[in-house]
Amino acid sequence: MTNEKNLGFDTLSVHAGYEPEPTTGSRAVPIYQTTSYVFDDAEHAAQLFAQEKEGNIYTRLGNPTNAVFEKRVAVLEGGEAGLAIASGMAAINLTVLTLLESGDEIVASRSIYGGTFHLFTETLPKYGIETTFVDPDSLEGWKAAITEDTKIIYLESPGNPLLDLVDIKAVSEIAHKYNIKVVVDNTFNTPYLSQPLSLGADIVIHSATKYIGGHGNSIGGIIVGPEDLITDMRSEGYRDTGPALSPMNSWLFIQGLETLSLRMKKHCKNAQEIAEWLEDHPKVEWVRYPGLESHPHHELAKKQQKDFGGMICFEVKGGLEAGKKLINNVRLCSLLANIGDTRTLIIHPASTTHEQLSKEDQKKAGITEGLIRLSVGIENVEDIIADLSQAFAQLN
Ligand code: PLP
Repeated sequence: MTNEKNLGFDTLSVHAGYEPEPTTGSRAVPIYQTTSYVFDDAEHAAQLFAQEKEGNIYTRLGNPTNAVFEKRVAVLEGGEAGLAIASGMAAINLTVLTLLESGDEIVASRSIYGGTFHLFTETLPKYGIETTFVDPDSLEGWKAAITEDTKIIYLESPGNPLLDLVDIKAVSEIAHKYNIKVVVDNTFNTPYLSQPLSLGADIVIHSATKYIGGHGNSIGGIIVGPEDLITDMRSEGYRDTGPALSPMNSWLFIQGLETLSLRMKKHCKNAQEIAEWLEDHPKVEWVRYPGLESHPHHELAKKQQKDFGGMICFEVKGGLEAGKKLINNVRLCSLLANIGDTRTLIIHPASTTHEQLSKEDQKKAGITEGLIRLSVGIENVEDIIADLSQAFAQLN
């Protein structure tokens, strides 16, 4: 392939990281469904283990299908290297365990996925790592929370479920003054909408389970960052703790990447239309979507990302009971715990994805009892609206 630097995002989504391999000429990326790789001789084996030569050893350490996925996401994010991993949570955990040790601290946005919140508040403290949470849009708050033990600033772009944005450039400038690494979970935006490394972040992680895979069929994750850090992660924490991604899942994620920008365009278009429709709906209390002028970070969204994404949250008049009734009555939308699927998905975060937060922490993060999260799919928008409409009609 010609120099990757000259190619556009859509071309790279389809080509980056793979040339037809010489043995068969396979145009599609092959699935290397193998545990191990035959060494040339004992000397070659020893050289690979000693990291004196590059090559495949064992799929827990690396795999040629995973390598294509790693390279492709790294290129799309504008990063040096990638590490394919078994889930988004494994990506977050390995990043933290690589960068921190007992006594170190994290400063994190309050507006994050419930599973990550639980990792930071319940699991990591057992190993001597504490986290301070701050309001995502308060630069003063980020600054004030930093101590001499802070090693990571952690945020989501944008936050799950309230879709708050952090000014990544400004927060990265603060962090770098104190030699702190900025880790961004870019799952909701994908590299199509924003590339946090170009704004100053140091590491990007993804739950590939969501938009990267895009079809709701596989769990996986990826970490993108500087080559030396990714090499260290692979040869230490990744090797020791064993969260390798299955080559089959990597292959499905590669399929997903090939249509990422097409899908994201449709997710964004449908979500904008539905958010505007919800905002005008008489039975809706409030709507949060970065593409609406009413969103508190709408201006930052215009500056920091290409479009406004496929996620919306809203509250129905009548709070929890009315919200439950609405999600019990949808037919086309699926009630389930995932986002970023081609299909439209709906959920009640306070009792599901964010139930790991106490009521008080939910309140601080703005997760009201009646909040409903909608992951807008790529169906015909009028069919999604018709489904929501008939569910609203059943509320009295
Ligand atoms: N990051 C975000 C923003 C998420 O929403 C999720 C899961 O919902 C995760 C990370 C965890 O990803 P996974 O389920 O692939 O472990």
